[in-house]
Amino acid sequence: MKPGFEAELNQTYAAIRKSLKTSPRGYEWRRQQLLALKLLLVENEKSINDALWADFHKGAFEAAATEQGIVISEIDFVLENLETWMEPISVSTPLFNQIGTSEIRHDPFGVTLVIGAWNYPINLLLAPVVGALSGGNAVILKPSEISANVAKLIGELIPKYLDKNLIAVVQGGPDETEILLKLKFDLIFFTGSGKVGTIVAEKAAKSLTPTILELGGKSPALVLADADIKVTAKRLVWGKFMNAGQTCVAPDYLLVQPSVKKELLSEMIACIQEFYGEQIQENKDYCRIINERNFDRLVGLLEGSKILFGGKSDRASRFISPTLLESKPESKAMSEEIFGPILPILEISELSQMIEFVNERPKPLALYVFGHDLGNIDRVLEETSSGGVSVNDVIMHMASPNLPFGGVGASGMGNYHGEYSFRAFTHEKSVLKKSTLIDVPLRYAPYTDSKIKWIKRLI
Ligand code: NAD
Repeated sequence: MKPGFEAELNQTYAAIRKSLKTSPRGYEWRRQQLLALKLLLVENEKSINDALWADFHKGAFEAAATEQGIVISEIDFVLENLETWMEPISVSTPLFNQIGTSEIRHDPFGVTLVIGAWNYPINLLLAPVVGALSGGNAVILKPSEISANVAKLIGELIPKYLDKNLIAVVQGGPDETEILLKLKFDLIFFTGSGKVGTIVAEKAAKSLTPTILELGGKSPALVLADADIKVTAKRLVWGKFMNAGQTCVAPDYLLVQPSVKKELLSEMIACIQEFYGEQIQENKDYCRIINERNFDRLVGLLEGSKILFGGKSDRASRFISPTLLESKPESKAMSEEIFGPILPILEISELSQMIEFVNERPKPLALYVFGHDLGNIDRVLEETSSGGVSVNDVIMHMASPNLPFGGVGASGMGNYHGEYSFRAFTHEKSVLKKSTLIDVPLRYAPYTDSKIKWIKRLI
């Protein structure tokens, strides 16, 4: 840890708390900050792309589509709607509160903390910041130390573009974050593993700090016999091997009905070859594993499953080829979230067995089902619980600004994106405004029998 880290952090935090008291954070401030954040992304596209490449060979297309692009479209969507969202919402007032009016206001929380993960180091750090700013909050950003080049760049750029009085970047790993979590925040937004999410939630609980946890888990994909296998294969391969499988909502494992298993496998292999060519290691669109620890963990997960395709790896360049496995429930690949380019495939005959398989495990962040029978799709939707679902697709539900994104149970709590980000970063405050013109004596003691009769009628 850098000498003097804690003292410097305390100073930054105290300065932000002080500024919060005097800085107006109304619509104009929020709009300016969001525009400045957009400018940061646009003007620094090349240095951001270079940092993403240096961290794990993320190519320009994926950077545009899944990093800067997502944050920019979030900003645009918020800017189109923010003034409306900020308006107090009038609601009706019951008879017993007449003469009066009722409304819901959206209050900023105050000083918020956003802790990011390394796998989409721009998107997962800055999309929550869009929410924090739209809600009128001060924010401390803690990028993941694992995507070190992006973290360094973010640390340089944020103070150049955003309001230094209310927005700061703090760098560091577990030790620094532990110190950071000693501070009293008004809201913590964490993206990462369930293990660290638990640490964050425990620390936050000590000061009753509201916490949003965006976690991971094993997201299943169910392929039913009546699925369009060609399109299914394409979408699965795209969603699984993007970012080399290091995506929280990537399909983690496949459950497939026996009659379509062979065709699905051969279509998926054809797609992998079409997308990435024969020399995948040379392909500039195929990412590397983020570090050696994760590389070793992933190679270990191959044990005990039959390799149907791929399985090649090179530790020096942290390369693992797109890999399809034939696995069993007790295989190592089924023991933890994969978070890499390895896809276990399990054959299951009946839809009810697939549903049972999913329900026996922790609630996933995403669930995918491919098929056309609407009765089957409805059964899956009704009988399983997951953060979100795409039917006949993967990942795309999280790209819609009109849908909330978040987990349930072990995959997280709270959600964001679009208006849900604004809601996540604001407190819904109930306001009742009463007139003093009429003051009905009914509620005041002494409580006579006639008052009891009246209260029963009114409530
Ligand atoms: P991680 O939990 O290891 O790290 C996340 C953040 O926590 C980092 O900023 C890190 O510095 C910090 N941290 C690590 N150890 C800590 C400790 N002991 N105390 C305090 N802070 C600590 O997660 P990761 O490896 O960056 O990301 C992978 C996990 O995140 C996967 O489980 C994945 O599914 C999940 N994820 C979820 C989402 C989502 O939106 N739901 C998105 C991306 C990743």
